[in-house]
Amino acid sequence: MNTQAQSALATTSPSKLSHRQFGLNWQQWCRISKRGLLAGVFALCLVPVLSACDQKTVSAPSDVITNKFTEVTKIQGKTFGTFYYITVPGGYPGGEATLRSDAEFVFTKVSNAISTFDPHAEIARFNAHKSTKDFVISGYLANILENVQRQSLRIDRSMDPTVGPLVNLWGFGPQGEVNESPSEEQIAETMQYVGLDKVELRNMENGAALVKSDPRVELDLSTIGEGLAADELAALMDEKGINNYMIAVAGAIRSKGANPEGKLWRVGIEDPMSQGQKVFTAVCPQGMAISTAGSYRNFFLDSKTGTFYSHIIDPSTGKPISHRTVSVSVIARSALETDALDTGLLVKGAKAAVEWGNQTETPVYAIEINEKGEEVASYSRAFTPYLKCVLNLSISPVPQGN
Ligand code: ADP
Ligand code: MG
Repeated sequence: MNTQAQSALATTSPSKLSHRQFGLNWQQWCRISKRGLLAGVFALCLVPVLSACDQKTVSAPSDVITNKFTEVTKIQGKTFGTFYYITVPGGYPGGEATLRSDAEFVFTKVSNAISTFDPHAEIARFNAHKSTKDFVISGYLANILENVQRQSLRIDRSMDPTVGPLVNLWGFGPQGEVNESPSEEQIAETMQYVGLDKVELRNMENGAALVKSDPRVELDLSTIGEGLAADELAALMDEKGINNYMIAVAGAIRSKGANPEGKLWRVGIEDPMSQGQKVFTAVCPQGMAISTAGSYRNFFLDSKTGTFYSHIIDPSTGKPISHRTVSVSVIARSALETDALDTGLLVKGAKAAVEWGNQTETPVYAIEINEKGEEVASYSRAFTPYLKCVLNLSISPVPQGN
């Protein structure tokens, strides 16, 4: 097994992890790996896959940026129903135990603010507040909401945090799964209280408040939870003066500096049709955040019609997306931003997503399934530099267009 490649490649993929998959060993992950990013485990799995597919070397000599590290702190665990992996070449002060407790502190902080599943969380309490009276929130949550709203407006509200009631209606929220798709009437009824204009963020002298225009309005920030946690952890590393790290909270990845081999970090974008066994292409984020939204992981099967419905909802129709785009990855400064944008751009579909990336100079990479059932990638101009460092990585396909 090529240990250089092992530590060099983590993957970004849609998140949500099936509970069935907890407790699998790593070989099983290699075979199945259905939901969730498995940065560390995945890196372990990738090497045999890559070498079986192609014998060419995985490492690029030019990406060596420092000496190999003798000390590395590595942890992994479960959070938000999915996995996280953190690697700190050079070591984390206090070692694994401190890193784990720092990471858990961050996950608790994020969850306390935005969880819809924990009834004590601010957002869960806001959702339960069936009233149009002010609901006081923390400055921390107000900042998150302001940022999410800004991202939403950039992409025509295709990512919309008020989509919560629709998420529930389609069985992807805290109210549990459904076996049948809702009726057109139910969707139309629910749409009456979905939309950014239905909730107002009011900054007050001593904090902030949220106000619903309809008591039934609910927020869902699940799509940015992983990105937010990755950003918080990256900020913690930066505060401590740590210059080399890889943080993967499900498919939201923040990395900086060098990997344990002293090379640039590489991140694989998961091959949507490979059941988690292959990467589609690899990128070097070079200090930037990257995340991926996908429609191929989390879905439900309508027992009557046999139709699969994705957990990504188009807020303009009230229905799960049904086009052929299966994954969208975005690179930006923060993982909150990428995590918000990838979902909205997935709703828009590959063509519009890449066009938007070109118009706004944002790195966007989309994969769709063509009529022949083949995966086709396209990406915006701004994505190109992130692919260059892995040009000699033979698993990289030649994307079409742009
Ligand atoms: P992925 O599985 O692709 O990583 P995430 O877990 O980050 O996706 O986000 C998916 C979740 O976001 C859904 O389960 C739902 O709660 C919420 N969601 C679905 N569609 C939208 C949308 N258009 N805008 C905002 N949130 C959405
Ligand atoms: Mg997202």
